[in-house]
Amino acid sequence: MLDTSTASHTTLDQQQLTAPRIDLLGLTLPELAAWMAARGEPAYRARQLAGWIYDALADEFTAMRTLPAHLRQRLAEEASIAGPRVRTGLVAKDTRTRKLLLELGDGRLIESVLMLYPATAESRARATVCVSTQAGCAFGCTFCATGQMGFDRHLTAGEIVAQVLHFARDLRRAPWQAPDGQTLDRVTNLVFMGMGEPLHNYDQTLQALRVLNMPEGLNIGARHMTVSTVGLVPGILRLADEPLQVNLAISLHAPNNAMRLRTMPVTRKYPIAAVLDACRTYAAKTNRQVTFEYVLLAGVNDHVEHARELAELLSPLKQLCHVNLIPVNVTAADYRPPSGEAVRAFRETLRVGGVSNSVRAERGDDIAAACGQLRTRESRRLAMPRADATAS
Ligand code: SAH
Ligand code: SF4
Repeated sequence: MLDTSTASHTTLDQQQLTAPRIDLLGLTLPELAAWMAARGEPAYRARQLAGWIYDALADEFTAMRTLPAHLRQRLAEEASIAGPRVRTGLVAKDTRTRKLLLELGDGRLIESVLMLYPATAESRARATVCVSTQAGCAFGCTFCATGQMGFDRHLTAGEIVAQVLHFARDLRRAPWQAPDGQTLDRVTNLVFMGMGEPLHNYDQTLQALRVLNMPEGLNIGARHMTVSTVGLVPGILRLADEPLQVNLAISLHAPNNAMRLRTMPVTRKYPIAAVLDACRTYAAKTNRQVTFEYVLLAGVNDHVEHARELAELLSPLKQLCHVNLIPVNVTAADYRPPSGEAVRAFRETLRVGGVSNSVRAERGDDIAAACGQLRTRESRRLAMPRADATAS
């Protein structure tokens, strides 16, 4: 029989010796201050540290000259701000879309994308980072390359924040000259639309949002952050009660359950009516419009009859929502985008039905950086069979 007293003693010693370094990128300012306090350091050191990480964009402790040498030494021994390592960087032909293949500490691979948008009549120029929240995804939507990989693991908050920091450093080093003459040297917007389902990894996603939003962090406003979900009702309802109220996007992609079930297995667990109810609650509690994403799959869900059904479905919500149409980006699956004419007819039908809509101009198709194209071939060997799509 195991001698538990000795075993636990040994385990403790080993833990102390081999304790993994704490990833400071996953901590808010009060948590950084608590970490400092536990080491006898004054709270203002946390602010200094945050300044180095998020203002100076330092990626190693040795650069942090205002911190005393003993603290830099201790940080180097016990903590980390390195984040995932860049394996490859790709730039699309139009130079406005950039993709990073990142290697996590355990060798798994994820992708993140930066999209640069010139100013429009409604908005200033934007530098939007599309972050991944999981390696792989458990929900298996048939048109999505990530979904076809299967689920590998959740990312930590620090691994999510690090994706944004990589692009923040890139933009600082080489600011983007927008066509209107504006210079962008910082990340302005975030979309949680990379690999994975953010609300399946709720706690780490929320923690990352808090860190990215804090004034002493990258200070990205909640109105500039969008979380996209396949429609996990409990997660949507939790998000509605958070003090940090971000934009919500729902991947709807079909006007009825039978059709949605064919491409999105999650419909079995959360039928459309339950998702729409949760959206109504979200809009009521946050005062935010909800965006419905609708991937147009030629011959599957792109007929004007489907647009009519969609307009009817959304009619009780029409003051509160906007539909974003996305001609499908080609993946290994056998789907094709509809013709321009079919897209116009779909839009017109929605408009007549009183539903505000737009077509997402896709970016980065030539480097497989567009929505639904993110997959990391190498991580397939690590990927587990797809988890039950009823996970919440
Ligand atoms: N899991 C979340 C967020 C990541 S997917 C979600 O599903 O919402 C981000 C968006 O890309 C979703 O709207 C998703 O449906 C869409 N998408 C997936 N595959 C696509 C493809 N092949 N073409 C266009 N959009 C796609
Ligand atoms: Fe997962 Fe979203 Fe892809 Fe569906 S569309 S498989 S939920 S990443």
